Amino acid sequence: MEIERSNNDSSSSLHRKLCANCNEPSKYTCPKCSTFSCSLKCVNVHKEKNDCDGIRDRTTLVSKNQYNFGMIYSLCKILN
Ligand SMILES: [Zn+2]
Ligand SMILES: [Zn+2]
Repeated sequence: MEIERSNNDSSSSLHRKLCANCNEPSKYTCPKCSTFSCSLKCVNVHKEKNDCDGIRDRTTLVSKNQYNFGMIYSLCKILN
């Protein structure tokens, strides 16, 4: 699984997201760097140009979540 279809987007928001390669309305968003692409061809162009593997970095997500949890925890300590 390399490509994420943006199922949550309404058709109106599609027009605001333009393909980074050819400025057509995009259908795909790179899971790794959120670059918009209109087709698989442009996804591959983006990957080559930006040296992007299109795979979401799980370790970054985990450390981000831990960071947010720490923030909430320290806020609770202050409130108490
Ligand atoms: Zn990318
Ligand atoms: Zn394109």
